[in-house]
Amino acid sequence: MRDVWPQLARHRFPAVRRDRIDCLQLNLGYLCNLSCLHCHVNAGPHRKELMDRATMQLALDVAEARAITRFDLTGGSPEMNPHFRWLVSTARARGIAVIDRLNPTIAEVDGYQWVPEFLAEQGVEVVASLPCHSQANVDSQRGDGVFESSIRVLRRLNELGYGRPGSGLTLNLVYNPGGAFLPPPQALLEADYKCLLEVNFGIFFNSLYALANMPVKRFGSQLLSKGQFEPYMDLLKAAHRDDNLASVMCRSLISVDWRGFLYDCDFNQMLDMPLGGEDSARHLSSLLTVDPPPQVAVNGHCYGCTAGQGSSCGGAFVEPAIAAA
Ligand code: SF4
Ligand code: SF4
Repeated sequence: MRDVWPQLARHRFPAVRRDRIDCLQLNLGYLCNLSCLHCHVNAGPHRKELMDRATMQLALDVAEARAITRFDLTGGSPEMNPHFRWLVSTARARGIAVIDRLNPTIAEVDGYQWVPEFLAEQGVEVVASLPCHSQANVDSQRGDGVFESSIRVLRRLNELGYGRPGSGLTLNLVYNPGGAFLPPPQALLEADYKCLLEVNFGIFFNSLYALANMPVKRFGSQLLSKGQFEPYMDLLKAAHRDDNLASVMCRSLISVDWRGFLYDCDFNQMLDMPLGGEDSARHLSSLLTVDPPPQVAVNGHCYGCTAGQGSSCGGAFVEPAIAAA
């Protein structure tokens, strides 16, 4: 895996300051049943890193101490963490909203068929990856059979009420490009997804998040090996919009790794850039007594968040007409 750090450091990014914390994004570990080409976590079936229950308890304590209202659970496949159900049910019982970043295929793996029903019972918001509405594109990015499996699981989620008006169960989908290009305008793509998934597969969902690929880890390494790293950075930088700086997720979210160390976002976590650009990583326990630094650690990859319509865990920031300008 080629290190992208020297290349990223050549691209200066404007300063960003944190203005609140309303969400802890907890990375429950790097274990996943898939090994997708674009994965910025290098997740896969052989990864051993998993958050323990003591760290999860600490996250609950920090949420209470700081009136944090939301846990955003990511991985790997977060459901593969053996304490996933305990964390979700405890958080929900305390009134904390929970988002699960779901790779739908996990619900067809032996031992994980409980996932859709459990998420529905707990009223968890699902953000499910489906990087394209075309089977060929999804399978080439994620592996053979991933598209069909994802479709079957999305149907199960719909049957449980997800994506249906009035159910209170939110199902959002995530698109990311299948290469070194920017996502198309989110609203237009969402309309395409809604039409094609309903007509072809009878699937309904709430919103589509169109996320740019980050030039880090597995995807960054691929760009380097194909000689596409600098052209992709040029593309991101040319499409940078200052307006998007107001909406980047690091202004309101703190990312926690499987050991409990803190970062400004999941991408910084993968680059091992400690919270606020400090010399060493702070631990979650520090948030019980000490405020996080106001400044955010930025680097060249941050252009992936501010290019075009903007891109963050919650999708685009601006309207497509503006983004396309
Ligand atoms: S499903 Fe998600 S976490 Fe798992 S390998 Fe693919 S991109 Fe990474
Ligand atoms: S990559 Fe992370 S630190 Fe950089 S702008 Fe995006 S959310 Fe903020």
